[in-house]
Amino acid sequence: MAGRYLGRFAPSPTGPLHAGSLVAALASWLDARAHGGRWLVRIEDVDTPRCPPGADQLILSQLAAVGLLPDAPPVWQSQRGALYAAALQHLVEAGRAYGCACSRRDIAAAAGPQPRHGELIYPGTCRPARGGLQGRPARAWRALTEGAGRIEWQDRRLGAQAQALETEVGDFVLKRADGLWAYQLAVVVDDAEQGISDVVRGEDLADNTPRQRWLQQLLGLPPPRYLHTPLVLGTNGEKLSKQNGAAALDLSDPLAALREAAGHLGLRLHAGTPADALAEAVSLWRDL
Ligand code: GLU
Repeated sequence: MAGRYLGRFAPSPTGPLHAGSLVAALASWLDARAHGGRWLVRIEDVDTPRCPPGADQLILSQLAAVGLLPDAPPVWQSQRGALYAAALQHLVEAGRAYGCACSRRDIAAAAGPQPRHGELIYPGTCRPARGGLQGRPARAWRALTEGAGRIEWQDRRLGAQAQALETEVGDFVLKRADGLWAYQLAVVVDDAEQGISDVVRGEDLADNTPRQRWLQQLLGLPPPRYLHTPLVLGTNGEKLSKQNGAAALDLSDPLAALREAAGHLGLRLHAGTPADALAEAVSLWRDL
């Protein structure tokens, strides 16, 4: 992998791209171009019930409208379950993942007081060392974080980062009780299988990185470099997201959309066409 830059944009097609997702798409594309590398698009549709039909194609056409064209045909995570199953099996056989019978209510009862808005930290009830499933059927599958210690990593924009995975996050889900693959496992398997050298994505995902680094370590996969881009905040000061109703990108004026996205990355573009604006942005990105 040394020296070979391969980047990706990996949208979850829960709706059309909004201004914030274009910033992440543009940054990943610019970073690939500035490094003379290649750029892929991966549709992260593992959470199928949350992905309305057609949103994937809409996203691809939005990207094309601003001139962001992948260098190879996109892949869909919903078609890659066999890869995730093989990785989970490997982890289970290595004693690094285990079946969990607990419902949300069981976890809340066993976990005691927790941060009000954070995700519940799994108290480890079904850990093999604590007796495992004890005859109950496995609902979900979790990664064992025992021994992960303090995961340290370097972000190209945010600098040195660290997280005590076992105490701050706990044993996280790899396959959900409803049978769906979890983002953490799918993203790690795909980034490695596709040979991604550089992950460039929104800062809201930065604190997922230690979980991903841990899975890479457990699966013996090379870690990519990471760069987390600034978030676009709405007028209410919250990050733009499909969940809080961010408007779909207005692509009636692709140049304006590109200028605005580039502006969030600290790039002021003057070019008069989308193609020239992209070229200008690549040279500015190189000098950042
Ligand atoms: N699919 C994730 C999202 O749209 C991004 C995954 C990633 O870039 O690692 O939030």
